[in-house]
Amino acid sequence: MSFETLGLSPALLRALAEQGYTTPTPIQLAAIPVALAGRDLLASAQTGTGKTAAFALPLIERLFTTPRLQGASRKPRVLILTPTRELAAQVHDSVRDYAKYLRVSTTAIFGGVGMSPQTQTLRRGVDVLVATPGRLMDHMERRNTDLSGIEILVLDEGDRMLDMGFLPAIRRILGSLPKQRQTMLFSATFADEIKQLAAQFMRNPEEIQVAARNSVAATVTHRVHPVDAARKRDLLLHLLAADSRRQTLVFSRTKHGADKLVTFLEKSGLSTAAIHGNKSQGARTKALKEFKNGKVTILVATDIAARGLDIDQLPIVVNFDLPMVAEDYVHRIGRTGRAGAEGLAIWLRPKKVACCATSSACSSRKSRWKMSKATSQAAR
Ligand code: AMP
Repeated sequence: MSFETLGLSPALLRALAEQGYTTPTPIQLAAIPVALAGRDLLASAQTGTGKTAAFALPLIERLFTTPRLQGASRKPRVLILTPTRELAAQVHDSVRDYAKYLRVSTTAIFGGVGMSPQTQTLRRGVDVLVATPGRLMDHMERRNTDLSGIEILVLDEGDRMLDMGFLPAIRRILGSLPKQRQTMLFSATFADEIKQLAAQFMRNPEEIQVAARNSVAATVTHRVHPVDAARKRDLLLHLLAADSRRQTLVFSRTKHGADKLVTFLEKSGLSTAAIHGNKSQGARTKALKEFKNGKVTILVATDIAARGLDIDQLPIVVNFDLPMVAEDYVHRIGRTGRAGAEGLAIWLRPKKVACCATSSACSSRKSRWKMSKATSQAAR
């Protein structure tokens, strides 16, 4: 199967060819025809499977084939909600790249940066609005945008948005959208809460589940290094120094721990940056950009960075600490082994593990960390 046979316009196909996409991924094959037909869609796919294009391509195609009438208002026609600022920026970039040869405008709206440039863009009008729920609510309260023209709604990383406590905001936002619309809900897992959300806000959605529930890419090799807690940092340094040119994402459980690790690694001569909830948006964007372009080889992150970040060909993910919530382990190591590439996931396991986790932490319900969601949120 090719993108041509999925019925996408030549202008979209040209942009895809430039991105180096030749064959649709399984989630794209399954989702694009359903979405093009205007059906509601409830889709579960592993991270890194090409899910962004699975919703972005059909929505761009639908905007393109039913253009606005001349002189019609410039209210947004598509709303894409994402849990994090980084994911909003990334989805916006993808939509812009795919729609490069089409007259489809897009913008990203998220917190941590000034309101007024966003306000001006919203007032000028845009087709596709990619937003995090909190900042979108701020703009709605100031009447900077009118969502009554939304034809397509996408909820990306739905389970993550619920984990982060966005349900009340999502309900408010959904309440101001037209009832007559297409809704697509993408989620790494089909937790019961996700099913409930779908039952409430979607019309007879087509369910697509491409990957096994809570699984990770088969191309990832997992390695566990048992180590005395006091020697973890030295072991990390040893592993990183052994191949200091390889881009490595290191996960720390806490913001403070991440900062301490960065200081230690930098003192040891490794170019390192941190990304976590206490960093300003500018610092987060800069760290991610420098990691992506290779200026910085090591990025130390808390779980806020675990989902959705698209970093091409990331070869290694190191779990310096285990996450608060077992599911986050899957999302952490979903950063490597993407789109069929080889990946390596390393866990520096303290010899005395102070939690109920077992070695099959990512798959077993029993192995959930005994930590409340509130504690987990505070750490990010
Ligand atoms: P996503 O799951 O949307 O974050 O996508 C993961 C990565 O796969 C991104 O770098 C995409 O650019 C890339 N990708 C998505 N679809 C395809 C495709 N059909 N062929 C090649 N790469 C793709």
